[in-house]
Amino acid sequence: MTVKRAAVMGRCMGVKRAADLALAAAAESGGRGVFTLGPLIHNPQAVAELEAAGVSALSEGELDGRVAGRTVVLRAHGVPPSSRERLLALGARIVDATCPRVLTSQRRAAGYAARGWKVVIAGDAGHGEVVGIAGYALSAVVVGGPGEARAVDASGPGGEILPIALIAQTTIKKEEYEAIRAVLAERFPVLEVVDSICPCTEDRLGALAVLAAEVDALVIVGGRNSANTARLLATAKAFGKPAWLVETAAELPPEAFGFDKVGLSAGASTPERLIAEVEESLCRGGLPRRAGFGVL
Ligand code: SF4
Repeated sequence: MTVKRAAVMGRCMGVKRAADLALAAAAESGGRGVFTLGPLIHNPQAVAELEAAGVSALSEGELDGRVAGRTVVLRAHGVPPSSRERLLALGARIVDATCPRVLTSQRRAAGYAARGWKVVIAGDAGHGEVVGIAGYALSAVVVGGPGEARAVDASGPGGEILPIALIAQTTIKKEEYEAIRAVLAERFPVLEVVDSICPCTEDRLGALAVLAAEVDALVIVGGRNSANTARLLATAKAFGKPAWLVETAAELPPEAFGFDKVGLSAGASTPERLIAEVEESLCRGGLPRRAGFGVL
């Protein structure tokens, strides 16, 4: 069997940077370890590896005196200002691993809100990144699609219609963002659209399309709780090729070994080690590893 990797796949700049910052902070912690506010990465195996290296996740509800004097790493999605303030009030030291792209969205939201604009965020209202950005523009409204965009109320304190600033969750689909933009453009006279979609997801989808034309089946490596990994799988299936999502090599189904050419892609949170293990297992036809064997 030949295994071919997508030209663009695996960890994005923001996720890699966050993991590196957390590991560096843990190494400097004198054995005490560090906390992250929520899981740093949407990949269970990567989270387990981080825990072994002294990086443990705490939810917002678990924040208490245990963070006093300890380092808390803010993940790539970012957090609202209220979370930072809470951490500082509890005596935590903050290492900010917010992705630079998300930081830009937060700053743009704060800037528009300070000028009296109505900030509309296109994305998933419950997603950490969206919650974080909304925290920088307290009157912001989140819309998940064109239907919700039709219900946006941009009335100012005196009944005037406020100008609208539209900001996208970095991982939203371009077509969805455009559909939301079109509705708002019809309804409001002043609309500024921030180009905040991260090219990482589109780049991975584009590379997957090229790969799909060259192989018989596709394997996507990534966490089941990762939205961008789920999108890769859905796209792979849309090409009409057999496709599977696996978190580890052990999850490869027997059918995956029955093709001449298999394509490999991975979500933006997937560590290289897991990708390499899946690649090696496919090359070995699922047989147990022999001493000294290696494909990379
Ligand atoms: S997908 Fe893009 S915006 Fe999100 S963490 Fe990665 S680089 Fe940053």
